[in-house]
Amino acid sequence: MVDSSDFRKWGKEMIDYVADYLDNVGERPPLSQVEPGYLSKLIPDSAPEEPEKWQDVFADIERVIMPGVTHWHNPHFHAYFPTGSSFPAIIGDILSDAIGCIGFNWAASPACTELEITVMDWLGKMLKLPKDFIVCEGGRGGGVIQGTASEATLVSLLAARTKRIRQIKSENIDMENDCTIMSRLVAYTSDQAHSSVERAGLIGCIKMRLIPSDDKYSMRGEALREAIQNDKAKGLTPFFVCATLGTTPSCAFDNLKEIGQVCKEEDVWLHIDAAYAGSAFICPEFRHLLDGVEHAQSFNFNPHKWLRVNFDCSTLWIKDRADIEDAFNMDPLYLKHENQAKVTDFRHWQIPLGRRFRSLKLWFVLRMFGIKQLQEGIRRQIQLAHEFEDLVKTDPRFEIVTEVIMGLVCFRVKGSNEINERLLKKTNESGKIHIVPSKLRDTYILRFAVCAASTTSKDVQYAWEVIQNLASEVLMENGDENSVENSHDC
Ligand code: PLP
Repeated sequence: MVDSSDFRKWGKEMIDYVADYLDNVGERPPLSQVEPGYLSKLIPDSAPEEPEKWQDVFADIERVIMPGVTHWHNPHFHAYFPTGSSFPAIIGDILSDAIGCIGFNWAASPACTELEITVMDWLGKMLKLPKDFIVCEGGRGGGVIQGTASEATLVSLLAARTKRIRQIKSENIDMENDCTIMSRLVAYTSDQAHSSVERAGLIGCIKMRLIPSDDKYSMRGEALREAIQNDKAKGLTPFFVCATLGTTPSCAFDNLKEIGQVCKEEDVWLHIDAAYAGSAFICPEFRHLLDGVEHAQSFNFNPHKWLRVNFDCSTLWIKDRADIEDAFNMDPLYLKHENQAKVTDFRHWQIPLGRRFRSLKLWFVLRMFGIKQLQEGIRRQIQLAHEFEDLVKTDPRFEIVTEVIMGLVCFRVKGSNEINERLLKKTNESGKIHIVPSKLRDTYILRFAVCAASTTSKDVQYAWEVIQNLASEVLMENGDENSVENSHDC
């Protein structure tokens, strides 16, 4: 039996291991280099009959697990978007695991529900969301923590779907059935939106139109209006738009003011997916990018991306709680409690029944960093992205592809897609840094994201030198005589 005295001892060993791991993560390769199936060769194929010793389990972290870990908090990791991490968040999660409640309704742990309402209000106020979204300001809506942005989009789409179906049924004396109504519903998003938006349409059995973005990869009001008018002319029913602030391929921003206006005119539910960039709106100088949010019925971003909170913590605000509570309400006797008329039961605001005490880690982060340090962290990373941008601009063999607004730089070697594909492959094979590509229309580009909170100017310079030198090799192999002009020792 493992008792609390074992836990004290092993837990402390694990805390030391975690602190050492994070202090020295820069010395490990950012991208795991193992081959598929590596792990099954290192452990038995069935669970042990008898308990094993802690020291053997502990030793297997380095032997079995770490070789197959891609180290997202290595300052040479520049792939995707950042994933948040901090000691306060980790400590909050330890407490959440210890309490181990399944906070589906208020009675299941009042603190779990009430803290979530409060920290969602704190965060909503930090973003200067309209009052409608903030409980303590008398709003009809409020915030809820979902697992991911994908879930937040799906929940919003399903709530909008139910709302529209009920509205049509209430206005239609012939009382069409739900399936007939659903077959006419249409949702819209940009051709740059994350795949999870299209997937929400797939899961929700809804046609999702991809609106062509403009030359800055931004969805514009006119293009949206035209698509909506075309669909209405065909007898279809537009009901949902998902706008993106900070697209995944290039961190482009849809024109929220224009889109919001169209949604208002057409009485269409507007959902905003700001999974990555949303964290930056706590800085007054970036808040204008959220202007137009007053037209949205739902807004989501991931503090687990860029606000120092460990995965998972995706914050969703709904303008009118009735829209979501009505859409997902199921009331079996075993989930009822005597206070339910007076309180929020978050089980109505999400797809699963069970929910973790995720607000603890968010609360710890907000209190132990404070707004100022969180703002400084965002600004520092954006500054580092501009530093990388400036370095790229010094080398005439490269080009910056899109405006750098947040912590992502989209760039490429001037030349064919194939050259850039080779450069990407060599870069990741070098094991020195990790980046991922993207495609904008037909152009293959490289994405450099400032990810780890510990990234410094030195790391940015290092990454650039690695890329520059590998570019020289690729161009030389390609027979380009000017290729070595700008290479450096690394
Ligand atoms: N939306 C955008 C704009 C994203 O960049 C991402 C992931 O990077 C997602 C949605 C999906 O996020 P999640 O993993 O939280 O579902």
